[in-house]
Amino acid sequence: MTHVLLGHSRRLYQVNPFTSILTQCCKSKKDYSVKSGAQSGVLERVVSAFRSVCGDDGVSLGLAVREQHGRDESVHKCRPPDIVVFPRCVEEVSALAKICHHHRLPIIPFGTGTGLEGGVGAMKGGVCFSLRKMDRVLDLHPEDFDVTVEPGVTRKALNSYLRDTGLWFPVDPGADASLCGMAATSASGTNAVRYGTMRENVLNLEVVLADGTVIHTAGKGRRPRKTSAGYNLTNLFVGSEGTLGILTKATLRLYGIPESMVSAVCSFPSVQAAVDSTVQVLQCGVPIARIEFLDDVMIDACNRFNSLSYPVSPTLFLEFHGSERSLEEQVAITEEITKENGGSDFAWAQDEETRGRLWKARHDAWYAALALRPGSKAYSTDVCVPLSRLPQIIVETKEDLVRNKLTGPIAGHVGDGNFHCLMVMDPNDPEEVERVHQFTERLARRALAMDGTCTGEHGIGLGKRALLREEVGPLAVEVMQGLKATLDPKNLMNPGKVL
Ligand SMILES: Cc1cc2nc3c(=O)[nH]c(=O)nc-3n(C[C@H](O)[C@H](O)[C@H](O)COP(=O)(O)OP(=O)(O)OC[C@H]3O[C@@H](n4cnc5c(N)ncnc54)[C@H](O)[C@@H]3O)c2cc1C
Repeated sequence: MTHVLLGHSRRLYQVNPFTSILTQCCKSKKDYSVKSGAQSGVLERVVSAFRSVCGDDGVSLGLAVREQHGRDESVHKCRPPDIVVFPRCVEEVSALAKICHHHRLPIIPFGTGTGLEGGVGAMKGGVCFSLRKMDRVLDLHPEDFDVTVEPGVTRKALNSYLRDTGLWFPVDPGADASLCGMAATSASGTNAVRYGTMRENVLNLEVVLADGTVIHTAGKGRRPRKTSAGYNLTNLFVGSEGTLGILTKATLRLYGIPESMVSAVCSFPSVQAAVDSTVQVLQCGVPIARIEFLDDVMIDACNRFNSLSYPVSPTLFLEFHGSERSLEEQVAITEEITKENGGSDFAWAQDEETRGRLWKARHDAWYAALALRPGSKAYSTDVCVPLSRLPQIIVETKEDLVRNKLTGPIAGHVGDGNFHCLMVMDPNDPEEVERVHQFTERLARRALAMDGTCTGEHGIGLGKRALLREEVGPLAVEVMQGLKATLDPKNLMNPGKVL
């Protein structure tokens, strides 16, 4: 056993100078040095304590596993944790957190690693809590339209579980993310214009705090549709990006699967015409389920990637949900509005398979953008502005892209004023990387100047901490720091993120 552990610690040291266990242990025991026997003795004790909680196969020190858990889908560099643990229940999460707390080891929760802001990187080393083994749907209450899930359940897994119940969970970030990862980043996606984001759809959370304490943000087992009881702790943890606690259960709102659904694609002569149509559709009270904008560069990339042949001009992908009669009405109003704005005839997708193909093309936008430059990496910007400012910010952003010779197709959840430039770049060209960085900062500041936010749905993660301060101001950041210090006084939860 000792031999195996020492072998591991040598490999760990090569990749990551063993920052967490070394520096954290050093805080309490001053005389430890990297290679000292005493230090590896601490490692040995920690690992064996972890193994006694979640079994030998619930603890991994292997390089490949650590690297897999040290990165997400963003361009941020891989920062592997020292150890990855795979708890099977909340009691194990709590016991593991207590060990980390005792040894001052950072804790980094991991869902499915589809995040786009570097949220899972172990900036100070530490222990990654991979929650994928906690993947049970626990309590379904069809008559109350709610369900409670463990953190490793993904949105697609939940929707296949619900298939025969007539219910579904609509928040859809495209990727098959874990539902607690989605809560942790306050994710949304294409359906948010009608069904809201994770903020509106989480009713209760079970959370393990840094010291192992287990709390229920709305009270144990409670699941009312609304409450005005006390502070809204649920929404404090939604969007906290693993910096306040580990989400181990989420109670979510469900919706009836609509009687009918129909999707359509419509092209426009200009960005302004597409956005004007969106605003007018919403002003008319059409309860549109999805209204997604793709600029000319994005639709061209989607055409190439999915062998489609939509006109290369600003485009809206739309979806309507409701009864047959209500669909007729929604579609008639929307068609009239788009025609008045110079939109093309609708290309319809009615049956499930055709609709699936259409939305797959939209969800593949990320990969379609990457295919524009094989071998490139993509970075997705994510700003959100009040709807009326959308045409101006998109036009200015496209001019900025051209001026700086950057490739950044635009796709947006336009009904929410939220859009992304999928920046395609050569990660080995420092000059281009710097140009992209400057561009993304300008874009975020443009959104702030238009009363918007530097992130509509991907979160702050690693790269947007300075922008958060500009957005909410130093006093609000101070309040956030105070909350963090109360819940996590040793700063163990996902250090280096958000604040
Ligand atoms: C192709 C593509 C398209 C995407 N489109 C969208 C989109 O349209 N809308 C959108 O919102 N997002 C989108 N995303 C981003 C991503 O899917 C979301 O951020 C998602 O919510 C991340 O979930 P995850 O389980 O993968 O979390 P991870 O990437 O594993 O983690 C993200 C953050 O949450 C924390 N975390 C994870 N699980 C927990 C937990 N149980 N408790 C506490 N903290 C936790 C992590 O520490 C980290 O800080 C897209 C990603 C890709 C790759």
